[in-house]
Amino acid sequence: MGKIRVLSEVVASQVAAGEVVERPASVIKELLENSLDAGASGIEVEVRGAGTALLRVTDDGSGMDREDALMALERHATSKIATAADLVSVQTMGFRGEALPSIASVSEFTLRTRTAKSEIGTEAAVRGGKLIAVRDAGCPRGTTIEVKSLFYNVPARRKFLRSAATESAHLDRAIENVALAFPSVALTYLRDGREIHRLPSAPLAARVGDLFGAEDRAQLLEIAPFERDGIRVNGLVSRPGVTRADRGRQFFFVNGRAVDSPFLAAGLREAYRQMLEPGRHSTAVLHIAIDPREVDCNVHPAKREVRFRRGSSVRDAVHEAIASALREARSEWLRPVQAHIAARVAHVPQTGPLAGQHQPEFPRVPAPPPEVRAARIVTPAATPVPASAGSAPSRPPAEEFRLIGPLGPRYLLLEGGEGLVMLDRAAARQRILFERLQRGVDGGAVAAQRLLMPAVFELPPRLHEAVAGNLAALVSSGFAIELFGGHSVKVEAMPDFLAGRDPLRVVEDFAQDFLSESSSRNRAALDDSVRRAVARLARDAPEPADERAQLALVTQLLSCELPYCDPDGKPVMLQFSWRELDRKFGRS
Ligand code: ADP
Ligand code: MG
Repeated sequence: MGKIRVLSEVVASQVAAGEVVERPASVIKELLENSLDAGASGIEVEVRGAGTALLRVTDDGSGMDREDALMALERHATSKIATAADLVSVQTMGFRGEALPSIASVSEFTLRTRTAKSEIGTEAAVRGGKLIAVRDAGCPRGTTIEVKSLFYNVPARRKFLRSAATESAHLDRAIENVALAFPSVALTYLRDGREIHRLPSAPLAARVGDLFGAEDRAQLLEIAPFERDGIRVNGLVSRPGVTRADRGRQFFFVNGRAVDSPFLAAGLREAYRQMLEPGRHSTAVLHIAIDPREVDCNVHPAKREVRFRRGSSVRDAVHEAIASALREARSEWLRPVQAHIAARVAHVPQTGPLAGQHQPEFPRVPAPPPEVRAARIVTPAATPVPASAGSAPSRPPAEEFRLIGPLGPRYLLLEGGEGLVMLDRAAARQRILFERLQRGVDGGAVAAQRLLMPAVFELPPRLHEAVAGNLAALVSSGFAIELFGGHSVKVEAMPDFLAGRDPLRVVEDFAQDFLSESSSRNRAALDDSVRRAVARLARDAPEPADERAQLALVTQLLSCELPYCDPDGKPVMLQFSWRELDRKFGRS
């Protein structure tokens, strides 16, 4: 009897605070969202003691009159929606009307605010959810909210806070989210009295540079505005081959809201398929604009998760937007390189038949188009570079390129318009073979070479299974393989680039390698695993040392879809820009 009671307003707010206000960063997030909803064009954030001592957000937005200021402190008081139906098309960051009372219930809270209309502002002080003072205050137009001693009255919450370093990292992230979501809003961030950011209003690409530094910005590509099925995508992503050990630089915004969604992550991952080694991640600052009715933001009290009505369309739009940016970048960087290499190859004299042992692995040099054939041939490294006496040789203009030569047994050096390029020959070979295998025997990219004598052998059950489960992909890769009786295998032909190898070893190595890497259940992914394993078999094949073979290798690589990395995601080419070299030599 008498056991059920309605919670007092203060206790109810503290319970709600548990959902909305998890840590100092969630307070900052809510306050920033309110400032943005109030139409601020400049916001200043100050934080002390990892947010437990002080959190202060000042904006130049609409401000509130006294009545509204007091209303704002009530639970479920919001100016942003009136009915549940409004939720469907909510355009503002906030709408639950919970943040201010929740924060005020677990801190020493001061609100100072003034509208453009009134000359004098209002200051309201709340302690642990109780309004303790309301008075006139002289203050600029806009709102300042100050939160001190967060969780002072909820020891359990306070105990759950992590180290100052962790809480600071969460705070930094909350600031970065807003900085990237609203680049047009000027943003200043002070931490323990030190200015961490002073970001002017700027377009997104410039904001990224202001936030992360010019060098990191230079590693990113801007996506051309992309739209499909009413889903717009823009932003910046890492150039191919530029990766990080963590996901810390992946930002997704849906209609300006920082969110997590498996569909967005999947779209990004797919766009970089084969460009990422396991454990490496791309960078992305992606804005997705979509009809608000297609997104449900009210899944989570902190609004961090969203639900899409058409998740797979969103994933595909993200994938395609990035993929086309990467394709574009590829041609931007490589077109001149490609043209000049092709020109070089076209002009290397044919020195007798390329037969026997020294046949280059990649004899199919595609005939260059006429405009390429006319391109200027650049002096090879062997010929001294003509330099006017006394002065240093000048750099080639952007559209020129030359092969400098081999560096040790593993690498090739190239000089491009943008700087020095180092190429890993084995990785290049693997990439080329992998793409040939993808086009397959039917596409005329791989030839099956018949063995003089069919080879018949037994395989251990596990290896036999790996072969049996992937026959179609092996056949399209140029193998003629038959299975019969127990665990026997008969090989009658192998892909041309494995000519001369012992079929037993080849099939064993393939099966071992395939088993060690493949865990997928998806057929397309399995077929790729087969091709990767087959391409790897020829990775370290001996290669003729002459320049013609080197040029052929580079030409073939540059006609690949994804020349930057091998099928395992390891880099094939590294570029060292003139700027980087100059800086290292202290010349800039
Ligand atoms: P919500 O944002 O969900 O509406 P809040 O508790 O965060 O709920 O804020 C309550 C109300 O207070 C808002 O609807 C808005 O009218 C007002 N408000 C809060 N912060 C500001 C601000 N910085 N500038 C102007 N008005 C504000
Ligand atoms: Mg709010």
